[in-house]
Amino acid sequence: MTASPLPPPPALVERAAAWVAGARRILCVTGAGVSAESGLPTYRGVGGIYDGVDTDDGIAIEEALSGPVFRRAPETTWKYLLQIERACRGATPNAAHEILARWSRDARPPAEVWVLSQNVDGLHSVAGSRHLIEIHGDLHRLRCTTCDWRDRVDDYEALSPLPTCPNCGALIRPEVVLFEETLPSTATRRLHAQLALGFDLVFSIGTSSQFPYIVQPVVMAKHQGLPTVEINPRETAISALVDLRLPCSAGLALEAIDRVLGGAP
Ligand code: NAD
Ligand code: ZN
Repeated sequence: MTASPLPPPPALVERAAAWVAGARRILCVTGAGVSAESGLPTYRGVGGIYDGVDTDDGIAIEEALSGPVFRRAPETTWKYLLQIERACRGATPNAAHEILARWSRDARPPAEVWVLSQNVDGLHSVAGSRHLIEIHGDLHRLRCTTCDWRDRVDDYEALSPLPTCPNCGALIRPEVVLFEETLPSTATRRLHAQLALGFDLVFSIGTSSQFPYIVQPVVMAKHQGLPTVEINPRETAISALVDLRLPCSAGLALEAIDRVLGGAP
């Protein structure tokens, strides 16, 4: 099932665009739905590959991609990492990535547009988003579990099912946050610093909002009486909380807002 091709209601688009035009600091929280139009499957919700179904190994995807399973049975975790990377291979940024990147590049200081993404596909970075926090890391960065070997790869084509370090022979892994692992401290420090500076508009785009640190910026904005917008064809954990919902795909909604703005925030 793909996201609804219906355009967002014009009155709601106008309202969101007015908020964007009047905001100095904007935070866009993004999830797998933003990459759906680049052909990447989401986990849950519209187009979700693991929506309520277990993996071939009879366990939930969250378990297969968890720190404990990686330690106990790394071949299982690597099997799904390889599957996910194969699904990402050759994907390019779509209109949603491009518009957020352009907003971030065109915003005139002190205005800033930040992206807090859970995606590990690296597409916000490829699109050129300037202020980007990839809170779950990037699949394309690999590191050894034992020594300090690190590498950046375009894809996993050359990797074996259980890849090892060219330096010391130990297991390697991508620099992504597996389920039940702690978040990278540099990314969390950057996020907290930006939240402390404050945002005057928060978007939540294409995420099922499963994690507290993904919900928190929306809750904070709400408590401060600041506007919040959700872009998602399906209702989520935060739908009842936001001021405005655009129930359509990320690309259609952002293109519509961008058109009202005349191409600049
Ligand atoms: P999720 O799969 O839980 O939810 C995706 C959300 O996107 C759903 O609410 C769905 O309704 C919505 N959606 C589907 N198509 C859309 C579209 N065209 N436009 C807007 N919204 C759309 O994803 P999540 O909330 O990001 O989940 C969390 C975990 O999944 C994260 O840990 C993330 O790292 C991982 N993940 C990443 C990718 C990726 O990097 N592309 C892909 C799948 C999952
Ligand atoms: Zn090593």
